[in-house]
Amino acid sequence: MKHLSVLGSTGSIGRTAMDIVRRYPDRFTIKALTAANNLALLVRQIEEFEPEMVAVFDETKALELARSLKGKVKPIILYGEEGYVTAAAWETADMVLLAMVGAAGLKPALAAIAAKKQIALANKETLVMAGDIVMEKARENGVDILPVDSEHSAIFQCLKGNRTRDFKRIFLTASGGPFRNRPFEAFKDITLGDALNHPTWEMGHKITIDSATLMNKGLEVIEAVHLFGISQDQIEVLIHPQSIVHSMVGFKDGIVLAQMGVPDMKAAIAYALSQPGRLDLEMAFPDFSALGSLTFDRPDVHKFPSLTFAFEACKQRGTLPAVLNAANEVAVQAFLEKRIGFLGIFEIISNTMGLHTRIDNPDLSGIIEADRWAREKAKSLI
Ligand code: MG
Repeated sequence: MKHLSVLGSTGSIGRTAMDIVRRYPDRFTIKALTAANNLALLVRQIEEFEPEMVAVFDETKALELARSLKGKVKPIILYGEEGYVTAAAWETADMVLLAMVGAAGLKPALAAIAAKKQIALANKETLVMAGDIVMEKARENGVDILPVDSEHSAIFQCLKGNRTRDFKRIFLTASGGPFRNRPFEAFKDITLGDALNHPTWEMGHKITIDSATLMNKGLEVIEAVHLFGISQDQIEVLIHPQSIVHSMVGFKDGIVLAQMGVPDMKAAIAYALSQPGRLDLEMAFPDFSALGSLTFDRPDVHKFPSLTFAFEACKQRGTLPAVLNAANEVAVQAFLEKRIGFLGIFEIISNTMGLHTRIDNPDLSGIIEADRWAREKAKSLI
């Protein structure tokens, strides 16, 4: 039996995780839940799964939640960063699913590591910002960081049964997003609606925009560097519009292992929770004969400079990946609020990175300061 704390339980990943828990009541229990704003769904989850504690965005939401809970289930209700950190280190939980969005995931991740909880990590921003610190602390505390991101889950699965020193390359696949075939000249006309309409994956707003700019792939490159301890030069990004191959690993004898499945996050989430075993999810296999062919192309970095930004941030390291991440979060939010156009996202990230004075080997406070600086700088550029 695994006792879970789910941070971000009302988001796309969180909801899918709760479906898995619902299906396997003999394997999982819920001890803690957090949700920033969606109280209506959180109330239903509390009534169904009876967690011991929950945390929400702020005091107002906490009071509203307390009023909404009419039944017999009365968990401890906390709020804000302190609430999220408490949920991540909750005593009776042995595994934490970190599925909240953005930089807010960093402190809870470190709290979970300090409390020696196993971590199923969906929040890639944590590793992008502070991968060196997070991975070192995880090693010191004997904590496994299990990837939930479908590409990293694929790589993790391909590496099973192999020696780390035998692998040489990661082929990180990307769907290419909705603008793969749109000529660059027409990028200036991209609307919010166009960008939110992802061809293969059903996800939250922030990651859907990140997929449209290919920044999601850029962040995943940095995530992979930390998770698997390799150099960015060993990662090749491939545009694979069918999203059937979730990523591949190349070994030193020239052999490549690919992990495949239909594009659905459920299997990756379930594997992080159940590994090394697998749960019967009754998922369909890819219909290979109907698909006919699987294609792989080089990404167009002229159209999608996010990849160049990410490789550069990864190469320079220090505070630059945190700056990249913060500028991206601010730019994506501004695009979602229709305050900037699609191309403005690239411009703001590029300019913020260009204005940053990098600090090497930053400690946590150095990273948090760089994150704060980049947010302010990016906002001033909008
Ligand atoms: Mg992914």
